[in-house]
Amino acid sequence: MLVRLIYASEATAAITPVVLDDILRNSRQYNQEHGITGVLCFSGTAFVQVLEGDRGAVSKLYNRIVKDGRHQRVELLEFSEISERHFAGWTMGQVNLAKINPAILLRYLPRAEFDPYSCSSQAILKLVQELIATAAVNK
Ligand code: FAD
Repeated sequence: MLVRLIYASEATAAITPVVLDDILRNSRQYNQEHGITGVLCFSGTAFVQVLEGDRGAVSKLYNRIVKDGRHQRVELLEFSEISERHFAGWTMGQVNLAKINPAILLRYLPRAEFDPYSCSSQAILKLVQELIATAAVNK
């Protein structure tokens, strides 16, 4: 059974390119091996990640991610059954929301500054889909 999980979290230190590369290297290998797809968004010290895949595989990965010391305040925004994936082509896409035109953020979010704890999961999904359509998400 396919599910989608979306969570928000706060980095415990600056999200440097080294930190990101490390997370993404891990993600791409593990996620591909376990049929998990999704996108990792970040901005300032905030992360939001969308994970899609088999329910057991996504639950297991989420439990690993929650324990990761590179972030804290992990808050579940959505865990739902889905009939199809939105991000089938992405073992783990990445997008720096600090570099996105504020007008695009404002279309979906309460403020142009990204605060995942104040967003609905639907708004985040729509935002990420628009960013993919405009080639703003990197493989
Ligand atoms: P090991 O590499 O053996 O590490 C042991 C423990 O230390 C784990 O709890 C690990 O989470 C933690 N850890 C590892 N490196 C650091 C570090 N530099 N600082 C502090 N703690 C550390 N992994 C995926 O496979 N797929 C994903 O989609 C994914 N998304 C992530 C998103 C975010 C925002 C973060 C922070 C991490 C993500 N990870 C992802 C990484 C994941 O949390 C684990 O680090 C990774 O799966 C390796 O787990 P392990 O049990 O083999 O840990």
